[in-house]
Parts: sequence; structure tokens; C-alpha cells
Amino acid sequence: MKKILALLLMLCICLSLAAGLSACKKEHVHEYSAFWTFDEDYHWHDCVGNCGSSVDKAPHEWDEGKVTQEADEETIGLRLYVCKLCGKERVEKFEFDPSNGPTTTVREDQMKRAFDRDRFRNVTMTFYATDSGEFASEAVYLITENGLYRYLLDEDGVKHDERYYLATNTGYDVYTKDEKGIWQVETISKQRFATNADYAGRFVDQYSVFADNYEKFEYSEQDKEYQLFSEIIAKNNISYAVMRFEAKRLTFFGFLSPASNSLDYSTDFYGNYQEFRFENYGTTSFTVPFDVAH
Ligand SMILES: [Zn+2]
Ligand SMILES: [Zn+2]
Repeated sequence: MKKILALLLMLCICLSLAAGLSACKKEHVHEYSAFWTFDEDYHWHDCVGNCGSSVDKAPHEWDEGKVTQEADEETIGLRLYVCKLCGKERVEKFEFDPSNGPTTTVREDQMKRAFDRDRFRNVTMTFYATDSGEFASEAVYLITENGLYRYLLDEDGVKHDERYYLATNTGYDVYTKDEKGIWQVETISKQRFATNADYAGRFVDQYSVFADNYEKFEYSEQDKEYQLFSEIIAKNNISYAVMRFEAKRLTFFGFLSPASNSLDYSTDFYGNYQEFRFENYGTTSFTVPFDVAH
């Protein structure tokens, strides 16, 4: 008996629901929201009755955009666009374009960052020096978190004077070859490494004087590099510097210590010329040709 009553009750409910629905369908007049609904590309007005009907569907009308993050050698720029009708936001990235800047003079933060010691923790640095126009030396330094591998190249490009500085808990193990070509090891302190062998640190210490003269550098549209051809006087040395930034890094740095009045660094320069080239930022590594047990 209870079962029959329950069935009847359910039947009633179903019937009244059906009646209600059909009545709604007949009487529904779309009423469109004052607010926009949107997706990535379009905006539109939905019917508030949630029937799925919509009107006014159209692509967003983006404003002219506003830079929310300036780009430089280090940072991707961000520009925010807002749809003038629905308020939908869209962010676009843009690359640094030095020729596009308000000034062609290198900024202080750019220069300071180029000389930041931390940038030279994982980099290959090649050092060239010429003296009175003659080839003098070429040295390659692979600088990593775990140590330093250095070698010299002679005029024929032959590697010699290899040296490994491998970090230990207390300092560094320095490996050099003796006259018989056998690797010998000596242990040095962290401090001695920093003062004698940490070329990244020494580079920063010695040449940050150029970073302090950032105002004197100018960007050359033609050469795509920052240049300085006026004097930098530091500790009784007068120097002339050329720098190049590529892919947001300092990649080239050359300077002259002129012994004469000549300033044409690219051809005949009768003075001392030193050139640093930096590459493989973040990917420099080396392996030692012998077993090392710490
Ligand atoms: Zn509707
Ligand atoms: Zn819109």
C-alpha cells in the first residue's frame, strides 16, 4: 500500500514539473544582461534567463596598451591591453630594443648588472692581450660554481699550461702538470683562490671602474654596442673602452692603455690592448682528465 502511494506521489511531481517547464518555454522573453561575458577573443551579452541565447557577439576592442614592465637587457617587457567595452585584459611580452630607448646612453643599472660578480659564476671567458700590436697571449677560463679550468693558447692555437681549481669543503685543489707531464695537486684556501685564481671576481674588481663611468658610454646603432672613446682615468691609468652586450649579457669588453696618442683601436694601435670575451653563460662546464677523490 505504501509503495502505491509513493508511486502516485512521484507521478504527480513529474506531471507538475512538465507543466511548469512548458509554461516557462511559452512565456520566456529574453532579457540580456547589462554585463559583458567574454572569452579570449570575443565578448557578448548573455540572456539572464540562462537559456543559452546571446547577442552583440564581437571581437574585443583593445586599447592602445600600457607598458607595465619596462624591458632591458635582463628583463622581458610587458604591455597590458584592455578591451574598451568588456574590460578583458591581455598581456603581451616584448623584447628589449636598445635603439628604441629614450636615450642612447647606457643606464647605470645596465652597466652595474653587466659587471655583477654573480654573472661570472658560470661563464667562459677568453682573454687576449696585445702589446705594441704584437700577439702576446690568449687565455681561456671556464668558470663554474665548482671551480675553474684554465689553459693558455700559443700562437698556433696549441693548448698548454692547463690548470684545474676544484672546489673542496675547505678550499681548492689545484692541479698542474709537472715537467714529466704528470698531474700534481696542491691545496689552497678559499681566500687564496679568491685573490689569485678567481678571475671572475678579479675581472669585476678591476674593471668595475668602467661601470662607474656608465654615463660616458654611448650606444652605437651601427655597431650594436656600447662604446666609449673618451678617457677614463683611474689610479693613474688612462683607458679607452669598448663594450658589447648581446642576448642581454656582456659579451665583449676591450680596453686600451695607450702608450701613444693613437686612438684607432681597430687598426694600428701602438699601445696595450686587452680584450675579454664572454660566452656560454649558464652552460659552461668542464671535466677533469683524471680521477678525483675528495
Ligand atoms: Zn533567454
Ligand atoms: Zn571585449
